[in-house]
Amino acid sequence: MQKSIERIAGDSEGVSYEFPVFRFEGTDNTASSAYLQAALHAGELPGVVAIDALMPMLTKAQAEGRIKGSITIVPQANPVGRAQYHFGEHQGRFHLGTRTNFNRGFPLLAVPDTSLLPDTALGTADQRLKTRLLQLSIGHDIVLDLHCDDEGLAYLYVHTGLWPAMADCAAAMGVDAVVLWDEDTDGTFEGASIMPYQNASADVARFDRRVAATVEYRGILDVDGALAGSDAEGLYRLLVARGVIADQALPAPSGFAGIVAPLENIDMMPAPRAGAILYDVKPGDRVAKGARLATIIHAPGEAGGRAEVFAPQPGVILTRRSRRIIRTGEDLLKLVGDKKSADARSGTLED
Ligand SMILES: [Zn+2]
Repeated sequence: MQKSIERIAGDSEGVSYEFPVFRFEGTDNTASSAYLQAALHAGELPGVVAIDALMPMLTKAQAEGRIKGSITIVPQANPVGRAQYHFGEHQGRFHLGTRTNFNRGFPLLAVPDTSLLPDTALGTADQRLKTRLLQLSIGHDIVLDLHCDDEGLAYLYVHTGLWPAMADCAAAMGVDAVVLWDEDTDGTFEGASIMPYQNASADVARFDRRVAATVEYRGILDVDGALAGSDAEGLYRLLVARGVIADQALPAPSGFAGIVAPLENIDMMPAPRAGAILYDVKPGDRVAKGARLATIIHAPGEAGGRAEVFAPQPGVILTRRSRRIIRTGEDLLKLVGDKKSADARSGTLED
Protein backbone atom coordinates (compact mmCIF):
# COMPACT_ATOMS: atom_id res chain seq x y z
CA MET A 1 0.00 0.00 0.00
CA GLN A 2 1.28 3.41 -0.91
CA LYS A 3 0.37 6.64 0.81
CA SER A 4 0.71 9.95 -0.98
CA ILE A 5 -0.28 13.47 0.00
CA GLU A 6 -2.38 15.65 -2.26
CA ARG A 7 -1.99 19.40 -1.94
CA ILE A 8 -4.67 21.90 -2.93
CA ALA A 9 -3.65 25.55 -3.14
CA GLY A 10 -5.78 27.91 -1.07
CA ASP A 11 -7.23 31.20 -2.20
CA SER A 12 -4.55 33.36 -0.61
CA GLU A 13 -0.81 33.21 -0.13
CA GLY A 14 0.32 31.00 2.71
CA VAL A 15 -2.80 28.82 2.70
CA SER A 16 -2.95 25.32 1.28
CA TYR A 17 -4.78 22.11 2.07
CA GLU A 18 -3.66 18.49 2.22
CA PHE A 19 -5.27 15.09 2.19
CA PRO A 20 -3.80 11.59 2.02
CA VAL A 21 -4.52 9.08 -0.75
CA PHE A 22 -3.90 5.35 -0.24
CA ARG A 23 -3.34 3.05 -3.19
CA PHE A 24 -3.34 -0.75 -3.23
CA GLU A 25 -1.86 -2.17 -6.42
CA GLY A 26 -3.82 -5.01 -8.02
CA THR A 27 -2.18 -8.12 -9.42
CA ASP A 28 -4.60 -8.60 -12.34
CA ASN A 29 -5.08 -5.69 -14.73
CA THR A 30 -8.27 -7.22 -16.12
CA ALA A 31 -9.92 -7.06 -12.67
CA SER A 32 -12.23 -4.19 -11.74
CA SER A 33 -10.60 -1.26 -10.00
CA ALA A 34 -12.17 0.71 -7.15
CA TYR A 35 -12.12 4.26 -5.79
CA LEU A 36 -13.62 5.07 -2.39
CA GLN A 37 -13.86 8.50 -0.82
CA ALA A 38 -15.57 9.81 2.30
CA ALA A 39 -16.47 13.15 3.88
CA LEU A 40 -16.79 15.22 0.71
CA HIS A 41 -19.35 16.90 2.92
CA ALA A 42 -16.66 17.29 5.49
CA GLY A 43 -18.74 16.76 8.63
CA GLU A 44 -20.28 13.48 7.43
CA LEU A 45 -18.09 10.99 9.25
CA PRO A 46 -19.78 7.53 9.20
CA GLY A 47 -17.92 6.75 5.96
CA VAL A 48 -14.62 7.98 7.40
CA VAL A 49 -14.79 5.56 10.31
CA ALA A 50 -15.98 2.78 7.98
CA ILE A 51 -12.87 3.31 5.85
CA ASP A 52 -10.76 3.30 9.01
CA ALA A 53 -12.23 -0.14 9.80
CA LEU A 54 -11.81 -1.31 6.18
CA MET A 55 -8.11 -0.49 5.86
CA PRO A 56 -6.81 -3.40 7.99
CA MET A 57 -8.99 -5.77 5.92
CA LEU A 58 -7.38 -4.44 2.72
CA THR A 59 -3.89 -4.62 4.23
CA LYS A 60 -4.49 -8.26 5.19
CA ALA A 61 -5.83 -9.07 1.72
CA GLN A 62 -2.75 -7.50 0.18
CA ALA A 63 -0.40 -9.43 2.47
CA GLU A 64 -2.15 -12.62 1.32
CA GLY A 65 -1.89 -11.65 -2.37
CA ARG A 66 -5.67 -11.37 -2.78
CA ILE A 67 -5.97 -7.84 -4.19
CA LYS A 68 -6.70 -8.31 -7.90
CA GLY A 69 -7.84 -4.85 -8.99
CA SER A 70 -6.24 -1.59 -7.92
CA ILE A 71 -7.93 0.25 -5.04
CA THR A 72 -7.65 3.98 -4.34
CA ILE A 73 -8.88 5.26 -0.98
CA VAL A 74 -9.43 8.86 0.08
CA PRO A 75 -10.65 8.69 3.69
CA GLN A 76 -11.23 12.44 4.02
CA ALA A 77 -11.84 14.01 0.65
CA ASN A 78 -12.42 17.59 1.71
CA PRO A 79 -9.68 19.36 3.69
CA VAL A 80 -11.19 22.73 2.77
CA GLY A 81 -14.52 21.93 4.42
CA ARG A 82 -12.82 20.09 7.25
CA ALA A 83 -11.23 23.37 8.39
CA GLN A 84 -14.37 25.51 8.17
CA TYR A 85 -15.80 26.58 11.51
CA HIS A 86 -18.21 29.47 11.88
CA PHE A 87 -18.87 30.71 15.43
CA GLY A 88 -17.79 27.34 16.78
CA GLU A 89 -20.03 25.27 14.49
CA HIS A 90 -18.49 23.07 11.85
CA GLN A 91 -19.61 23.95 8.30
CA GLY A 92 -18.71 21.10 5.99
CA ARG A 93 -21.46 21.17 3.39
CA PHE A 94 -20.93 24.50 1.63
CA HIS A 95 -17.70 26.26 0.78
CA LEU A 96 -17.88 29.45 2.85
CA GLY A 97 -15.96 31.43 0.23
CA THR A 98 -18.35 30.73 -2.65
CA ARG A 99 -21.47 29.40 -0.84
CA THR A 100 -21.31 26.44 -3.21
CA ASN A 101 -22.24 22.96 -2.02
CA PHE A 102 -19.10 20.82 -1.97
CA ASN A 103 -21.10 18.09 -3.75
CA ARG A 104 -22.32 20.31 -6.58
CA GLY A 105 -20.53 22.01 -9.42
CA PHE A 106 -18.31 19.10 -10.41
CA PRO A 107 -17.49 19.33 -14.12
CA LEU A 108 -19.74 16.93 -16.11
CA LEU A 109 -17.48 15.58 -18.84
CA ALA A 110 -18.97 14.25 -22.09
CA VAL A 111 -16.32 11.51 -22.21
CA PRO A 112 -14.17 9.92 -19.49
CA ASP A 113 -11.01 11.87 -20.30
CA THR A 114 -9.54 13.85 -17.38
CA SER A 115 -7.44 15.95 -19.77
CA LEU A 116 -10.74 17.68 -20.64
CA LEU A 117 -11.25 18.90 -17.06
CA PRO A 118 -11.22 22.68 -16.77
CA ASP A 119 -8.04 24.44 -15.66
CA THR A 120 -8.87 25.57 -12.13
CA ALA A 121 -5.52 27.18 -11.35
CA LEU A 122 -7.25 30.57 -11.36
CA GLY A 123 -10.48 29.22 -9.86
CA THR A 124 -11.32 28.86 -6.19
CA ALA A 125 -9.91 26.27 -3.77
CA ASP A 126 -13.13 24.22 -3.84
CA GLN A 127 -13.00 24.07 -7.64
CA ARG A 128 -9.39 22.91 -7.52
CA LEU A 129 -10.39 20.23 -5.03
CA LYS A 130 -13.26 19.00 -7.25
CA THR A 131 -11.03 18.78 -10.30
CA ARG A 132 -8.43 16.84 -8.34
CA LEU A 133 -10.97 14.38 -6.93
CA LEU A 134 -12.22 13.62 -10.45
CA GLN A 135 -8.65 13.18 -11.70
CA LEU A 136 -8.15 10.64 -8.93
CA SER A 137 -11.45 8.79 -9.47
CA ILE A 138 -12.31 8.75 -13.19
CA GLY A 139 -11.20 5.55 -14.87
CA HIS A 140 -12.07 3.29 -11.93
CA ASP A 141 -14.82 0.72 -12.52
CA ILE A 142 -16.18 1.20 -9.01
CA VAL A 143 -16.61 4.68 -7.53
CA LEU A 144 -18.22 5.09 -4.11
CA ASP A 145 -18.80 8.47 -2.47
CA LEU A 146 -19.56 7.94 1.22
CA HIS A 147 -21.93 10.46 2.78
CA CYS A 148 -24.64 10.44 5.43
CA ASP A 149 -27.98 12.10 5.87
CA ASP A 150 -29.30 14.04 8.82
CA GLU A 151 -31.10 11.10 10.48
CA GLY A 152 -31.82 8.20 8.19
CA LEU A 153 -31.63 4.65 6.94
CA ALA A 154 -28.59 3.39 5.05
CA TYR A 155 -29.31 3.96 1.36
CA LEU A 156 -27.73 4.46 -2.04
CA TYR A 157 -28.32 6.84 -4.90
CA VAL A 158 -27.77 4.91 -8.13
CA HIS A 159 -28.14 5.93 -11.78
CA THR A 160 -30.97 4.02 -13.47
CA GLY A 161 -28.51 2.79 -16.12
CA LEU A 162 -26.67 0.79 -13.43
CA TRP A 163 -29.77 -0.86 -12.04
CA PRO A 164 -30.50 -3.73 -11.51
CA ALA A 165 -26.89 -4.62 -12.38
CA MET A 166 -25.82 -3.10 -9.04
CA ALA A 167 -28.31 -5.08 -6.96
CA ASP A 168 -25.47 -7.38 -5.83
CA CYS A 169 -23.61 -4.33 -4.50
CA ALA A 170 -26.62 -3.07 -2.54
CA ALA A 171 -27.07 -6.58 -1.10
CA ALA A 172 -23.35 -6.88 -0.27
CA MET A 173 -23.36 -3.53 1.52
CA GLY A 174 -26.50 -4.39 3.44
CA VAL A 175 -28.20 -1.03 2.82
CA ASP A 176 -31.91 -0.58 3.48
CA ALA A 177 -32.89 1.26 0.30
CA VAL A 178 -31.82 2.31 -3.19
CA VAL A 179 -33.03 5.53 -4.81
CA LEU A 180 -32.70 5.60 -8.60
CA TRP A 181 -32.00 8.84 -10.49
CA ASP A 182 -31.88 9.77 -14.17
CA GLU A 183 -30.38 13.15 -14.71
CA ASP A 184 -27.85 15.31 -12.89
CA THR A 185 -27.64 18.91 -14.01
CA ASP A 186 -26.07 20.16 -10.77
CA GLY A 187 -22.80 18.26 -11.02
CA THR A 188 -22.74 15.96 -8.01
CA PHE A 189 -19.60 13.87 -7.63
CA GLU A 190 -21.66 10.78 -8.46
CA GLY A 191 -23.09 12.47 -11.56
CA ALA A 192 -19.61 13.51 -12.65
CA SER A 193 -18.51 9.88 -12.14
CA ILE A 194 -21.20 8.34 -14.31
CA MET A 195 -22.28 10.94 -16.90
CA PRO A 196 -19.01 10.71 -18.92
CA TYR A 197 -19.82 7.07 -19.64
CA GLN A 198 -23.43 7.60 -20.72
CA ASN A 199 -22.66 8.07 -24.39
CA ALA A 200 -19.49 6.00 -24.45
CA SER A 201 -19.19 2.84 -26.51
CA ALA A 202 -20.17 -0.35 -24.71
CA ASP A 203 -16.56 -1.47 -24.24
CA VAL A 204 -15.71 1.82 -22.50
CA ALA A 205 -19.00 2.29 -20.63
CA ARG A 206 -19.04 -1.30 -19.32
CA PHE A 207 -22.29 -0.67 -17.47
CA ASP A 208 -22.45 -4.37 -16.61
CA ARG A 209 -19.44 -3.98 -14.28
CA ARG A 210 -19.52 -0.26 -13.54
CA VAL A 211 -20.48 0.85 -10.05
CA ALA A 212 -21.13 4.44 -9.03
CA ALA A 213 -23.09 5.43 -5.97
CA THR A 214 -23.57 8.07 -3.37
CA VAL A 215 -23.72 6.05 -0.17
CA GLU A 216 -25.81 7.55 2.62
CA TYR A 217 -24.59 5.84 5.76
CA ARG A 218 -27.58 6.75 7.94
CA GLY A 219 -27.43 9.93 10.04
CA ILE A 220 -24.79 12.47 10.98
CA LEU A 221 -24.68 11.14 14.56
CA ASP A 222 -24.30 7.50 13.50
CA VAL A 223 -20.54 7.56 13.97
CA ASP A 224 -20.16 4.37 15.93
CA GLY A 225 -17.61 1.61 16.22
CA ALA A 226 -20.02 -1.28 15.65
CA LEU A 227 -21.64 0.39 12.62
CA ALA A 228 -18.23 1.28 11.22
CA GLY A 229 -17.24 -2.39 11.48
CA SER A 230 -20.37 -3.68 9.76
CA ASP A 231 -20.16 -1.00 7.05
CA ALA A 232 -16.51 -1.91 6.43
CA GLU A 233 -17.56 -5.55 6.06
CA GLY A 234 -20.23 -4.43 3.58
CA LEU A 235 -17.68 -2.51 1.51
CA TYR A 236 -15.33 -5.49 1.63
CA ARG A 237 -18.11 -7.83 0.48
CA LEU A 238 -18.81 -5.49 -2.45
CA LEU A 239 -15.13 -5.50 -3.46
CA VAL A 240 -15.12 -9.32 -3.29
CA ALA A 241 -18.42 -9.61 -5.19
CA ARG A 242 -16.99 -7.48 -8.00
CA GLY A 243 -13.67 -9.33 -8.16
CA VAL A 244 -11.46 -6.51 -6.83
CA ILE A 245 -10.45 -8.77 -3.94
CA ALA A 246 -10.39 -12.56 -3.95
CA ASP A 247 -11.90 -14.23 -0.91
CA GLN A 248 -13.12 -17.78 -1.37
CA ALA A 249 -14.45 -17.91 2.18
CA LEU A 250 -17.10 -15.31 1.41
CA PRO A 251 -20.43 -16.44 -0.07
CA ALA A 252 -21.79 -14.56 -3.08
CA PRO A 253 -24.34 -11.90 -2.07
CA SER A 254 -27.95 -12.91 -2.33
CA GLY A 255 -30.59 -10.76 -4.03
CA PHE A 256 -31.33 -7.29 -2.76
CA ALA A 257 -34.40 -7.34 -0.51
CA GLY A 258 -34.53 -3.64 0.41
CA ILE A 259 -36.60 -0.78 -0.96
CA VAL A 260 -35.93 0.28 -4.56
CA ALA A 261 -37.67 3.44 -5.74
CA PRO A 262 -37.16 6.12 -8.38
CA LEU A 263 -36.30 9.60 -7.13
CA GLU A 264 -39.69 10.87 -8.32
CA ASN A 265 -41.35 8.77 -5.59
CA ILE A 266 -39.74 10.78 -2.81
CA ASP A 267 -41.94 13.28 -1.00
CA MET A 268 -39.81 15.90 0.74
CA MET A 269 -42.59 17.19 3.04
CA PRO A 270 -42.00 20.93 3.53
CA ALA A 271 -42.91 22.46 6.90
CA PRO A 272 -46.05 24.63 6.60
CA ARG A 273 -44.94 26.85 9.51
CA ALA A 274 -41.75 27.64 11.39
CA GLY A 275 -41.31 26.31 14.89
CA ALA A 276 -40.50 23.24 16.94
CA ILE A 277 -41.02 19.81 15.39
CA LEU A 278 -42.76 16.95 17.17
CA TYR A 279 -42.19 13.90 14.98
CA ASP A 280 -44.67 11.01 14.92
CA VAL A 281 -42.40 8.91 12.73
CA LYS A 282 -38.76 7.89 12.49
CA PRO A 283 -36.63 6.47 9.66
CA GLY A 284 -37.74 2.96 8.73
CA ASP A 285 -41.38 3.43 9.72
CA ARG A 286 -43.99 2.43 7.14
CA VAL A 287 -46.88 4.89 7.01
CA ALA A 288 -50.35 4.81 5.48
CA LYS A 289 -51.74 7.65 3.39
CA GLY A 290 -53.08 10.32 5.77
CA ALA A 291 -50.96 9.22 8.74
CA ARG A 292 -49.69 12.14 10.81
CA LEU A 293 -45.95 12.59 10.25
CA ALA A 294 -45.23 15.58 12.47
CA THR A 295 -46.70 18.53 14.31
CA ILE A 296 -45.06 21.97 14.15
CA ILE A 297 -45.58 24.08 17.28
CA HIS A 298 -45.45 27.53 15.68
CA ALA A 299 -47.32 29.54 18.36
CA PRO A 300 -46.74 27.76 21.68
CA GLY A 301 -49.65 27.81 24.09
CA GLU A 302 -52.05 29.52 21.68
CA ALA A 303 -55.23 28.13 20.19
CA GLY A 304 -54.41 27.12 16.63
CA GLY A 305 -50.72 27.25 17.42
CA ARG A 306 -50.03 23.80 15.97
CA ALA A 307 -49.74 22.73 12.33
CA GLU A 308 -49.97 19.04 11.49
CA VAL A 309 -48.40 17.35 8.48
CA PHE A 310 -49.87 14.17 6.99
CA ALA A 311 -48.52 11.53 4.61
CA PRO A 312 -49.65 12.33 1.05
CA GLN A 313 -49.29 8.66 0.10
CA PRO A 314 -48.27 5.35 1.67
CA GLY A 315 -44.56 4.69 1.95
CA VAL A 316 -41.51 4.37 4.19
CA ILE A 317 -39.75 7.15 6.11
CA LEU A 318 -36.23 7.40 4.69
CA THR A 319 -34.85 10.36 6.65
CA ARG A 320 -35.78 13.14 9.06
CA ARG A 321 -34.04 16.13 10.59
CA SER A 322 -31.70 15.71 13.54
CA ARG A 323 -32.53 19.16 14.93
CA ARG A 324 -36.04 20.09 15.90
CA ILE A 325 -36.12 23.74 14.83
CA ILE A 326 -37.47 24.43 11.36
CA ARG A 327 -38.34 27.34 9.07
CA THR A 328 -41.35 27.53 6.80
CA GLY A 329 -40.76 25.53 3.63
CA GLU A 330 -37.79 23.56 4.90
CA ASP A 331 -38.03 19.81 4.49
CA LEU A 332 -39.30 17.86 7.48
CA LEU A 333 -38.39 14.43 6.17
CA LYS A 334 -38.08 12.22 3.09
CA LEU A 335 -40.88 9.76 2.50
CA VAL A 336 -40.23 7.08 -0.12
CA GLY A 337 -43.71 6.75 -1.54
CA ASP A 338 -45.11 3.67 -3.19
CA LYS A 339 -45.95 5.87 -6.19
CA LYS A 340 -44.74 9.02 -7.90
CA SER A 341 -44.86 12.13 -5.70
CA ALA A 342 -47.50 14.72 -6.55
CA ASP A 343 -45.10 17.43 -5.35
CA ALA A 344 -43.10 18.87 -8.24
CA ARG A 345 -40.31 19.96 -5.85
CA SER A 346 -39.43 16.39 -5.16
CA GLY A 347 -37.20 14.31 -7.36
CA THR A 348 -33.92 16.15 -6.89
CA LEU A 349 -30.73 14.51 -5.78
CA GLU A 350 -30.49 15.52 -2.12
CA ASP A 351 -27.27 13.97 -0.93
ZN1 LIG B 1 -23.39 14.51 1.98
